Amino acid sequence: MDNCIFCKIAAGEIPSRKIYEDEDVIAFHDINPAAPVHFLVVPRRHIATLADCGPADEALLGKMAALAPKLAAEQGCGYLRDAAGQASGGFKTLFNTGPDGGQEVYHLHMHVIGGPQPWRVRVQQ
Ligand code: AMP
Ligand code: ZN
Repeated sequence: MDNCIFCKIAAGEIPSRKIYEDEDVIAFHDINPAAPVHFLVVPRRHIATLADCGPADEALLGKMAALAPKLAAEQGCGYLRDAAGQASGGFKTLFNTGPDGGQEVYHLHMHVIGGPQPWRVRVQQ
C-alpha cells in the first residue's frame, strides 16, 4: 500500500525500534509512548482496520494476541504469579478502530502498553 507508514516500516524503508519480526508480523516500540513500555504488533500485510478483518484473518489475529504476553515479558511488563498465587505486572492490549476509536494510522496494529505503575490510560469525561 503506497504511503502507508507501517507498510514502509514492515518493508524496512522507514526505521523503527524493532523488537520482533517473523514472516507475518513485526513489532516495534511506539514513537510516542503512553507508558514505560509501549510497543505495536503489526501484520506485514496491509489491512486497514480490525473491522476489515474476516474469517481468513483469524489465525493472524490469534498470532498477534499470543505474541503480546511473550513480548511484554521480554520488555519487562509480563504478567507474573508467584508460588502463592500473588499476581503482579501485566499490560493492556488495544486495537483502536476508526475515528471514534481514535485510530490515527490506518494499518492494523495492536498496542501493548505496560510497565511499572503509576500510569493509566483514562477516558476523558
Ligand atoms: P492509533 O491511534 O491506534 O492509530 O495509533 C498509532 C500509533 O502509532 C500512535 O501511538 C503513534 O505514536 C504510533 N506511530 C506513528 N508513527 C510511528 C512510527 N514511525 N514509529 C513508531 N510508532 C509510530
Ligand atoms: Zn500499510
